[in-house]
Amino acid sequence: MTRAGYRPSHELVPLVLSGSRLAIARMISRAEGGYAEASEALAELYKHTGKAHIVGITGVPGAGKSTLVAALIKSLTQGGRKVGVVAVDPSSPFSGGAILGDRVRMNDAAEANQAFVRSMATRGHLGGLAPATLQAVDILDAAGYSPIIIETVGVGQDEVEIVSAAHTIVVLSPPGLGDDIQAIKAGILEIADIHVVSKADKPEAGAAVAALKGMLALGPARSGSTWASPVVAVSSVSGEQMDKLTATIDKHWKHLHESGELAARQRNNSRTRIFNTARHLFQQQFDERADDLERQLQAVVNRETDPQSAAHALLGWNQERSQREI
Ligand code: GDP
Repeated sequence: MTRAGYRPSHELVPLVLSGSRLAIARMISRAEGGYAEASEALAELYKHTGKAHIVGITGVPGAGKSTLVAALIKSLTQGGRKVGVVAVDPSSPFSGGAILGDRVRMNDAAEANQAFVRSMATRGHLGGLAPATLQAVDILDAAGYSPIIIETVGVGQDEVEIVSAAHTIVVLSPPGLGDDIQAIKAGILEIADIHVVSKADKPEAGAAVAALKGMLALGPARSGSTWASPVVAVSSVSGEQMDKLTATIDKHWKHLHESGELAARQRNNSRTRIFNTARHLFQQQFDERADDLERQLQAVVNRETDPQSAAHALLGWNQERSQREI
């Protein structure tokens, strides 16, 4: 890299560790851009991670996630904490004007010095989203932010994957969805450590809490955990129960430490992350080799080769490599 003014990533490492906002922003951009030059610096920063409490917040579009995160930032920074937020925004930064506008205003606010908010667009990404998102979390962790909130829409595999990287998963359900709580469809209700019914200032909120509690009574507890996921109704607008939510998030973190579940969860999260990163790298490799894929595809369609052999050829593997000895 010889571009004028380009600071090599390894030079950014000590600056990130000392909390420089500019260095943090640059490192995240490099992770997002998949710069090979940044990989050593990211590996170096990883050694300084593991201190932050990572909180995933997910829910259907319109559930009130961004409003809640803004309220949480306010409440947590007032308590003197350095809060990191990585928001995975399914719209592009250009079309998602309203949301991005809110975030920019949030960054301008008095709490700006205590909070670092970064949006990542998912549209147009070819794989790699989850790795970059989690690298952004690593960078904030190394820089001393805690808690770090990962906010995603709980609709796609990528989002569920990202939120699974958290220590504490908050699933937000808006009132008024009736019995058909949509979170179930996305398979995110069962991963919740804390259920939040949003917009508690609305009259329908009570029924949503009752419906959710009824549903949870039927379902199995999260395996291997002694934590019973509570239901908290909050209003980001009136501030109602916001203190209860932050206290519940802290209580879960304390529970993970005291019960010994933290180590198991971290191990599990790391395993998932390695596997998902490998999957993303494969995906990227395939995307970059679209011509080869097209050739193999045509050969399979023409019955000149079979799908198994085509997959092996694309991976550069010998057929024998995956054959078990008889
Ligand atoms: P997201 O798509 O999940 O990020 O949802 P938003 O935070 O953008 O909120 C969706 C809509 O719900 C917006 O119009 C918000 O103003 C509204 N909203 C969010 N939180 C509350 C709340 O606590 N009370 C009420 N009445 N409306 C809310």
